[in-house]
Amino acid sequence: MISTTINLTISAAHRGPFDDRLHGHTYRVKLWIKVLGSPKNGELLKDETKAKLADLDHGLLDDVLGRENATAEGLAMEIHKRLGAWKVSVDRDDGPGCEIEF
Ligand SMILES: [Zn+2]
Repeated sequence: MISTTINLTISAAHRGPFDDRLHGHTYRVKLWIKVLGSPKNGELLKDETKAKLADLDHGLLDDVLGRENATAEGLAMEIHKRLGAWKVSVDRDDGPGCEIEF
């Protein structure tokens, strides 16, 4: 199996399930997508990925994911759902991140 990896950042606001104060994070996202057939140009794939996640970047995660899911784990699950990535990691500088394989 060949996977393409894509690295990107998503800057977004949230309250999330644990904090009533509106605040923001820059999430460092890495995702792994299986390559079926001939691999696409990596830059093209990254552009398509960013377009599919555009509403998350500079968005309010509570609105997009629901407040209970506005977490690093919820963000990873949403990225998996939208892109079919078999593995997603989400990290941030000031708190816990996650890595999920599907
Ligand atoms: Zn937070």
